[in-house]
Amino acid sequence: MSLFAEVWEAVKAVGAGLGAVNKRISEPAVTEFYPYKKPEIPPVSVQFLALIQNEDGTDRCVACLQCERVCPSQVITIERKRNPEGKGFVLERFDLDFANCMHCANCVEACPVSAIVTVGAFEHAVYDINLLKADKAMLDHIGHEARVWYSPKFGVELRTPEGKIQKAPPEMQPGGLAELLKAEGGEAS
Ligand code: SF4
Ligand code: SF4
Repeated sequence: MSLFAEVWEAVKAVGAGLGAVNKRISEPAVTEFYPYKKPEIPPVSVQFLALIQNEDGTDRCVACLQCERVCPSQVITIERKRNPEGKGFVLERFDLDFANCMHCANCVEACPVSAIVTVGAFEHAVYDINLLKADKAMLDHIGHEARVWYSPKFGVELRTPEGKIQKAPPEMQPGGLAELLKAEGGEAS
């Protein structure tokens, strides 16, 4: 290719680039002014996992080990003992290493009592990878801080300002908004 042809190709490429910029510059911005404006992450997204305790502070978790067994990354470690007051087991240890979790939600799907759930919390980046090793106290804390969470068994649940746990309304359930809009003759975007 001659020097003239190469220069002509370069000019055309720059022109195409400037044309694309010019087209976009007049469109409304789709970016958000993060971190001053924070996005609402739906709880169904597997951003973070938490353990949910009952309203009286007892564990929902019945220490059945299902989540530990189905975790493909083997990042859940549970220790349990026989319940001295009756049937079943009580938790003695529940560790989850978020640094190696692949966020597949197998554990959430396997849990028979919706004790381990997904929460829409994010911004948990840390400088020390060891801080991503969560113990039961931390997982309980994330569960207590969560306003809404999700599990396949109970759907989206929420915690009221009074600390009551309730099933979230239909429009907050997965597909709920689309169903609502369909029933009203609209379309979900
Ligand atoms: S989300 Fe997947 S990888 Fe992470 S703890 Fe649960 S089962 Fe394991
Ligand atoms: S979190 Fe659920 S699946 Fe895991 S041990 Fe507890 S009850 Fe079983």
